[in-house]
Amino acid sequence: MGDGKHFMVFPLRRGELLNYVGFVPTTNETAESWSAVGDRDELAASFSGWDTRVTRLLDEVQTCFWWGLYDRKPLDRWVNGHLALLGDAAHPMLPHLGQGANQAIEDGMALAVLLEGCPGNFSVQEALARYETLRRPRTAMVQAEARKNGLRYDSKYADLGERDREIANSALLRKDLYDYAVEQRANEMRRQDSVAT
Ligand SMILES: Cc1cc2nc3c(=O)[nH]c(=O)nc-3n(C[C@H](O)[C@H](O)[C@H](O)COP(=O)(O)OP(=O)(O)OC[C@H]3O[C@@H](n4cnc5c(N)ncnc54)[C@H](O)[C@@H]3O)c2cc1C
Repeated sequence: MGDGKHFMVFPLRRGELLNYVGFVPTTNETAESWSAVGDRDELAASFSGWDTRVTRLLDEVQTCFWWGLYDRKPLDRWVNGHLALLGDAAHPMLPHLGQGANQAIEDGMALAVLLEGCPGNFSVQEALARYETLRRPRTAMVQAEARKNGLRYDSKYADLGERDREIANSALLRKDLYDYAVEQRANEMRRQDSVAT
């Protein structure tokens, strides 16, 4: 972690490969792509003077990719009639909690439970309204927490007391993230008589 930047690295394939990401601020627009080719010298220069474990790794890099991280506010609606958004289309989030795909999977589980047997006791539109009611607050919370994690990683937290309180409570957040029983919650939502649309 550094001032306005951070670097992440972890082993893959039982240590045969290292996956790394260097996060640096920029005002340049970047292509909407996961495979745009980056500049390895620019990458190395961004972390010049950092711990040798970082600089040595970057010396080995031959080619790299470059993509922009765009932070978005939660959307007001995900559903319109028979159309519903899920995953990144509904709640794009910064990667600092590693939750984008997890939240997309939870969305899919919730949809499967809520749409089961439709139209029966309620219509497809009602099922989708329940889906949005269940999922939007949770993903908005995860979006906000991912943003805060990024601020911590980049040493950009304005209120250090608040930062420390959040770190002290991080076990609770992790529990909420990892122990959340989406199928059970969706079944509870399915049993409710009505939801606001
Ligand atoms: C570098 C990186 C690291 C990440 N690490 C993690 C992690 O550790 N943990 C985690 O949970 N998440 C992680 N994520 C986030 C995760 O990858 C996304 O949140 C997840 O892929 C979103 O799934 P999705 O199905 O909503 O969207 P996508 O995976 O983007 O799928 C959308 C699909 O729709 C296709 N498509 C687009 N337009 C059209 C069209 N008009 N017609 C037909 N098809 C179309 C696209 O080609 C794409 O295949 C990471 C993301 C990145 C970029």
